[in-house]
This record gives sequence, C-alpha cells and structure tokens, in this order.
Amino acid sequence: MAVKLNAEQEQVIADWIHKKIEHLTCQHCQSTHWRVGELLLSPDRDPGSHCGSMVQVICQNCGGVSLFDANRIANWRSLDSLTDLM
Ligand SMILES: [Zn+2]
Repeated sequence: MAVKLNAEQEQVIADWIHKKIEHLTCQHCQSTHWRVGELLLSPDRDPGSHCGSMVQVICQNCGGVSLFDANRIANWRSLDSLTDLM
C-alpha cells in the first residue's frame, strides 16, 4: 500500500533528514543530490496497521532509493500532517 505525500510532508521529511544526516550521500554513486519520494509505503500484509511505514529518498543521479522509517520521523515532533496518513 502507498499513500501520496503532499509537499508539506515531503518538506518535513527532507528537513528531518537534513537534521540527522548533514550530507546524505547515495550509497551507490556517492551523489549528494536527492529528493524525497512522493509515496509513503506500508507493508501490505497487515491492512489497517501502518507499522513499518517507510519513506523513500531517491538519488537524482542514479535513481538509487534509500528507505527511512516514517514512524521515527513522525515521532520526531508531533507531526499531525504525517501521522494522519498512518
Ligand atoms: Zn546515486
């Protein structure tokens, strides 16, 4: 299952990553150009539960994808706009 993030939510995620990782580098090509993917991903096996939801960070050079735990980002501050999706 996937839910589309709005621009504000993508920005919150990008801000969180910038705060935690000063220079996020692609694990494949070492590029530092990336963007937050537009989908919040949840495992299909447990409908109704958003445990394990993930956000994507996509390398703008090679397209490599890194995944981050959405719950951790949502809990960083009470982020209503993100937790509403989960
Ligand atoms: Zn890359």
